[in-house]
Amino acid sequence: MKYQAIRGMSDIVPPEITQWQALESVTRSFLNKRSYQEVRTPLVEYTELFTRSIGEETDIVFKEMYTFEDRKGRSLTLRPEMTASVVRAVIENNLIAQDDTARFYYIGPMFRAERPQAGRRRQFHQIGVELFGKADFFQDAEVIMLLRDFLLALGLNENEFAININSIGCKTCREPFNAKLTEYLRSKGSELCGDCMRRMQTNMLRVFDCKVEACKTVCAGSPKITDNLCDECNHYFAGLRRQLDDLKIKYAIVPSMVRGLDYYSGPVFEITSSKLGAQDAIAAGGRYDGLVKSCGGPDVGGIGFAIGVERLLQLVGTSLGSGQTDQLIYIAHSDSESSKARALALYAELVKNDINVFIDVAKGSLKSQLRQANKLNARCVLIIGDEELDEGTVSIKDMQSGEQSSVKSADVVNVVKKLIS
Ligand SMILES: [Zn+2]
Ligand SMILES: [Zn+2]
Repeated sequence: MKYQAIRGMSDIVPPEITQWQALESVTRSFLNKRSYQEVRTPLVEYTELFTRSIGEETDIVFKEMYTFEDRKGRSLTLRPEMTASVVRAVIENNLIAQDDTARFYYIGPMFRAERPQAGRRRQFHQIGVELFGKADFFQDAEVIMLLRDFLLALGLNENEFAININSIGCKTCREPFNAKLTEYLRSKGSELCGDCMRRMQTNMLRVFDCKVEACKTVCAGSPKITDNLCDECNHYFAGLRRQLDDLKIKYAIVPSMVRGLDYYSGPVFEITSSKLGAQDAIAAGGRYDGLVKSCGGPDVGGIGFAIGVERLLQLVGTSLGSGQTDQLIYIAHSDSESSKARALALYAELVKNDINVFIDVAKGSLKSQLRQANKLNARCVLIIGDEELDEGTVSIKDMQSGEQSSVKSADVVNVVKKLIS
């Protein structure tokens, strides 16, 4: 019986894994330096956490969640995104307080029953940050700057991505706006798709997320939330734009951009890249001020974003993955037990000295070991044949120059260190 991975879920294996590891390592050091702390939550949560925070009527909850009952009949869901989980975790572990700012990040897999034929993964990965504290447009600017600087740190230049922002307003401004929008959409009702007809009854802003061409056309002519903000939202959004200007962050205001999750209010933003084609964002985020309180935590605001790792790697993977790894030292031996024992002892000594080593004691022939060393692109081969054993030496074959020399066993580590320095 030969098994296969589930459709839409992939193994991440060599050689691609080096790109993932490099990305994760850059991410951790970048964010740790900026006082963000990592959180890791379970992959599974009670379903209610997602349905209540993300919203029943969203595509994610309505169509895409992996939901199942456990043996006791409780409804569980594989996390489709992380903000709700992070909020639950920081409340449960008392990591946020009313008057403080707290910063967190995560790296990990999410699960959505997307259509694999459209190139979507059902298990995909995100890097994200969440900042909790009193709502203040300086913090929105900080988070957007962080996202830009992260992409720059990964080697993208500013012309390769665009920062789009918008404000989707608060409850106060959305009510009169919804009335205007209803009137407009009713007048176009027959042109909308079935999903959008339903969205009109539940959460109208979602019509703007619809991918159906006819709905996009209707949306293009509709009243814009950005033109209908209350004074407070207007002031906040203007403050954010002023800060972004001061920080010399290039952005575009995209009035049709709304985020398809219930918990967002106020500023939202996304990053697109012309190098990936226009349809998909690499990163998206926004402010979600009511979420922490509604999940039983203190009355603090929140803002965050998530980056799609698979898409990000399409942009920066090759440059990340080609980073020079440590030079490899290959230890070769003869077929005799004493030679193998000496080789394994040398292996232990080199590893203790933080040197990157390869050994294959199952091999007996020197020739096949040299062939393998060549294939692995080893810097040099340390040979412990029967002759070397008798003399208490090790032969060193330099794989770049092809030269071979003999050193005393006691000197091997120092000679190798000099060679790879
Ligand atoms: Zn408002
Ligand atoms: Zn539609």
